[in-house]
Amino acid sequence: MRDLGIAAAVVVGLTLASACCGDKRGDEAGYRVFAIEYAHSPKLRASGLVHEAPKDRFTPFSWYAWVVRGKGRVVLVDTGFDEVGAAKGFGVERFTPVPELLGGLGIRPEQVTDLIITHLHFDHAGNAAPYTKAKLWIQRAELDWGRKRVDAKRPRRGGVRLEDVRFLASLEGAGRLSLVDGDAEVVEGISVHRGGGHTPGLQWVEVRTGTATGTVVLAADNAYLYENLSERRPTASTRDKEGDLLLFDELLRTASRRDLAIPGHDPKVMREFPEVAPFVVELR
Ligand SMILES: [Zn+2]
Repeated sequence: MRDLGIAAAVVVGLTLASACCGDKRGDEAGYRVFAIEYAHSPKLRASGLVHEAPKDRFTPFSWYAWVVRGKGRVVLVDTGFDEVGAAKGFGVERFTPVPELLGGLGIRPEQVTDLIITHLHFDHAGNAAPYTKAKLWIQRAELDWGRKRVDAKRPRRGGVRLEDVRFLASLEGAGRLSLVDGDAEVVEGISVHRGGGHTPGLQWVEVRTGTATGTVVLAADNAYLYENLSERRPTASTRDKEGDLLLFDELLRTASRRDLAIPGHDPKVMREFPEVAPFVVELR
């Protein structure tokens, strides 16, 4: 009996230990959300990012993917690009492929269960091959648009690359493609929503963490910078400025705090939130 008592105490101790601390924190209780800065450009023209910004203003620019972890899932939101030449002309410094930075969180690419692609631009959809087990979530309208936008005669056009579109479409044959029309719950607590004039089928992500953090919104390129949201200035690239202003209200309403409506490229994200691994911050 005494041996059993000791064994029970050990089991209880182990259970408490694994429920308590370290890297596992949040896994049982809810989701943890991370931003991964995989590249950085020190100086881009602000007029390309913010509607009606002065022509002589420059701003730094970060390149991100995001990961949501918890409840037995690893959800990667966007993949970054696969080689720095893809971003020629953007003055990129300090490029590290996303799979390498995921290693800082102890995540191997094959552990990614779900891959959400917000839109088909090369810096969001350019390196999806390493995630061999992940189910892909993309808007049907985005993939349809991409298929028409590039072809063998014109393999690169306006930030969309034929190889990316082909690769993502090929996942259908592997039974790993989930085409979304509008809104969908990817897993319990993580939803995608179509919206914004950046590309025809751009989607943003809502993460109801189930922790004290509340709801995190990954706005992707609906907003490049916090400034787009706070100053109510749409991005310079959008085809629907009025629609984007309405969407900004929705993004800010959905996020539990204003700083948790996360823009797609703002270097401030790296300063506002705690760094938990090299070039990785936790959005909490
Ligand atoms: Zn984009």
